[in-house]
Amino acid sequence: MSYCVNCGVELDSSLKACPLCSTPVINPNQPYNPDEKSPFPTQKGQVEFVRRKDLGILISIVVLSTSLTCMLLNFLVFQNSLWSLIVIGPCIILWVLLIPFVIYSRLSVYMSLFFDALAISIYLYMLTFLTKSNRWFYQIALPIVFTSLVLVETITMLIKTVSASILMCALYLFTAVPILCIGIECFGDHFLHGSILLTWSMIVLTVCVIIDIALITVLTRSRLRNAVRRRFHF
Ligand SMILES: [Zn+2]
Repeated sequence: MSYCVNCGVELDSSLKACPLCSTPVINPNQPYNPDEKSPFPTQKGQVEFVRRKDLGILISIVVLSTSLTCMLLNFLVFQNSLWSLIVIGPCIILWVLLIPFVIYSRLSVYMSLFFDALAISIYLYMLTFLTKSNRWFYQIALPIVFTSLVLVETITMLIKTVSASILMCALYLFTAVPILCIGIECFGDHFLHGSILLTWSMIVLTVCVIIDIALITVLTRSRLRNAVRRRFHF
């Protein structure tokens, strides 16, 4: 029995070279035997890819049948509340999230993000049927979803047009997070008390401003930037 001197794989006596790294096999105690069949396949095999369209059809059917069976179960057996909406909503969101990957891949990233937000909004709206009032939907849920959408779309645009480096992405993120937090606190305060008094979001803002200042300093000083890149390997 021989082993490759380079990569250590076990070698058969029929081999002249390692099947993995092609290092020549030289073993004086085990002469080369060309009649013996190679234990390794000589050709590269490949599993056929599943076509996106087929995958799309499968996902659509699973999502649709889950929604329909839940709806039927809700209307025919467990009728005490509209619980099936809790299942149907995520099904719609899942389906919308997967559209750009499996069904319609030419959809622009901005449009697909918009549809994601729309699907989440529809789900949250469906939940209003389970609550006494739908005020929370219009005053908290919808504004938060819309703010998040605007922020995510803006970050996507900045990544595509300005820079996609890790440091710049961190800068986008640490700017977007406090904006979202301030939004959440504003909408929440307005909903609960009718007035706005910012507290915890100001703490988030302070921390993020400090991080942003540090990031901008690093980004504008090329020596610092290169030092950070070398240390974190990107
Ligand atoms: Zn080898």
